[in-house]
Amino acid sequence: MGILSRGGQGGVTLGKVLTYAATYDGKYTNAIPKYGAERRGAPVFSSVRIFDRPVKRHAQILQPLEILSLDYTLVPRFYPNDHFQGQGSITLNAADIPDEYFNYTPAKLGYVNIQEIAKRHGLVKSGSTLIGIPALGALAKTTGMVSLKSLHKAIDKLFPDSQYLQANHDAVEECYNETQIVTLDQMKQMDCPMSERRIHPIVRPMAGVAGRTSEWRTQRPELKVEACTKCMKCVVHCPDDCISLDIDGLPVIDQYYCKGCMICEAVCPVHGIIAIETLPGDDKDA
Ligand code: SF4
Ligand code: SF4
Repeated sequence: MGILSRGGQGGVTLGKVLTYAATYDGKYTNAIPKYGAERRGAPVFSSVRIFDRPVKRHAQILQPLEILSLDYTLVPRFYPNDHFQGQGSITLNAADIPDEYFNYTPAKLGYVNIQEIAKRHGLVKSGSTLIGIPALGALAKTTGMVSLKSLHKAIDKLFPDSQYLQANHDAVEECYNETQIVTLDQMKQMDCPMSERRIHPIVRPMAGVAGRTSEWRTQRPELKVEACTKCMKCVVHCPDDCISLDIDGLPVIDQYYCKGCMICEAVCPVHGIIAIETLPGDDKDA
C-alpha cells in the first residue's frame, strides 16, 4: 500500500506502527519511506507491504492500489483518474468526499476528518496536529488489513512513555468508528457539484523538479466562451494536460499549472483563446 502525507504529519511513523500491528496479526511486512532531509510540509510517500508469506521485495511500490492519504490534495497530484479501475481503496483525511475523487474508481473509499478528531484529543505539538497514528483507525476500518487490537498493542510497544499515549488510543478508536465507507457502485449514484464534474485528460498536471511551471510564465490563456466551438483541439494539444472539459464540453484551463506556452491559442481555429500578459506566479483564475 502507499501512504501519502506531508512532512510533519506523521506519515512515516504511521507506516512503522502499521508494520508492527500487522506483525502482531501474524503477517509479514516491511515499510519503506521515501523522503529527504527537511521535508516539513512537502509531499512524502511511504510504501508498506503486508503479506501472509515472507516479503522478499524491498523497493518502493510504484502503483499501489491501497492508498491512505493524510492530505486529500495529494492523490490527484500523484495518480491519474484511471489508476484504480475498480480495485483497491482510498482512505482519506477529509470531512466529506472531495469533488475530484468522483473521477476515481477504487472499489472502496473511506473518509473521516482525522485532523478534527486528533485535535479534539489534544494531539497537537508545536502547532502541528499529529494525525499519523489516528489515521490508522480509518485505514483499519476501510481496508480491514490490520486489527484494532493489534494497532493498540503496537502503539503501546512503540510509544510506552509518550505523553500522547492515551490520546492516540482514543483517537484511533474514534477514527475507526467515525470512518464513512462508500463503494464504487454507491459513488456512481452520488451527486457531486456539476461545475466540478469535468472530463479530464488521462494525465493530470503537476509540479516538476523545478517547481510549478506557471511560476515563470509571462502570458496566460483566456477562453472566449462565445467563440469556442468545442472542437477540443486545445485540449489535445496542451503539452501539460492543463485543459479539461466541463460538463457542457467547454474547455477549462488549469491556471495553477498552465505554463503559458500559448500552444492552445495557436491551434484554436476560431481564435477562441486569447493571450493575456501576466506576471510570473500570477495564478489568476487558478
Ligand atoms: S498556454 Fe500552454 S500550458 Fe497553458 S493551457 Fe495553453 S497549451 Fe496548455
Ligand atoms: S481549440 Fe478553440 S474552439 Fe476548439 S475547444 Fe479549444 S477554445 Fe474551443
